Amino acid sequence: MARHALITGITGQDGAYLAQNLLEKGYEVYGVVRRSSHFGIADHRLRWLGIEKNVHYVDANLTDLSSLLRAVEISRPDEVYNLGAQSYVASSWQQPILTSQVTGVGTTNVLESIRIVKPDARFYQASSSEMFGLIQESHQNERTPFYPRSPYGAAKLFAHWMTVNYRESFNLHASSGILFNHESPLRGIEFVTRKVTDSVAQIKLGKKTELRLGNIDAKRDWGHARDYVEAMWLMLQQDRPDDYVVATGRTTSVRDMVEIAFHYVNLDAEEFLTIDPELFRPAEVDILLGDATKARETLGWSAKTPLEDMIREMVDADLARHSSNAG
Ligand code: NDP
Ligand code: GDP
Repeated sequence: MARHALITGITGQDGAYLAQNLLEKGYEVYGVVRRSSHFGIADHRLRWLGIEKNVHYVDANLTDLSSLLRAVEISRPDEVYNLGAQSYVASSWQQPILTSQVTGVGTTNVLESIRIVKPDARFYQASSSEMFGLIQESHQNERTPFYPRSPYGAAKLFAHWMTVNYRESFNLHASSGILFNHESPLRGIEFVTRKVTDSVAQIKLGKKTELRLGNIDAKRDWGHARDYVEAMWLMLQQDRPDDYVVATGRTTSVRDMVEIAFHYVNLDAEEFLTIDPELFRPAEVDILLGDATKARETLGWSAKTPLEDMIREMVDADLARHSSNAG
């Protein structure tokens, strides 16, 4: 009998790669899709991977407990991956209440659905390095104190502690992956790596003349989403649920990442880059650098893809998209 997995956020970057990964492992994959008036757009990432016909879709919303109860009833999952969220930090200051409800309380709704309908299902929570925010240690691991710097970070921290609490209160097999930034050709266009690779591709093709960015001194520990979804799965294969940092252990400034992207297409970043004060955030996470020793020692997981290879893959994908006029 194939194992069943239910993924919230299946239409997002990680959901698409995780669905592909689990299908390759022989799972029956169910994905939560929220209703939208734009029919046929939601599954564009799954189509990009060629797996859109291989998954079951369940109509539900993280803010609607009854729809999640139904999703768990329909899918009878052995494993639930809660990847759905309002995931963009900058928007979380424009929509703080929605972010709290979807990213924070939404996780409680998923935990409740499991507790009520299928308490033996294993649960994965998509926690975030944004919970470290104003960092309290130079290398952040599972024991580093949290200090979120945005409504998004605060909502993720609430969801993280609810996951720990349901594990300790109800004995759920609930694990939390504290993932550092991870990117890919399927990253949302508003995030800085993809904004850069998309602009570099357009500039190279003569379709654009400028790249506007905010704080390019910020530093992130960037890995590849394809590598990171394997860590999610590994967490749920352990006998004991637990929390794990997932990171590369290398930090790079936005400025250096921009240079890597322009250099790949033989252009000089200085000629095209404009700093726009409007793009600075009300509070910034200056630097993140993860220590994934526990994931390496317990899960046997480590990041495989160097930043340079990932940026090249993303630029190539954006060049292909813009060359074919797919946008
Ligand atoms: P995306 O923004 O690409 O995907 C978010 C997903 O959540 C989409 O499928 C979206 O659906 C869905 N969603 C949003 N609101 C709701 C709602 N109300 N009900 C149901 N579904 C909803 O995120 P990523 O794939 O990059 O990230 C996956 C998870 O990991 C997120 O929780 C994110 O916060 C977290 N994370 C990500 C990191 C990263 O670097 N990528 C780092 C650490 C944590 P739709 O397609 O309809 O918008
Ligand atoms: P985050 O780490 O989840 O906030 O991921 P982002 O990719 O959105 O941002 C990473 C860093 O890049 C943050 O410190 C941003 O302030 C910085 N940054 C600088 N310019 C931009 C920009 O134009 N867009 C985005 N998204 N981030 C930018």
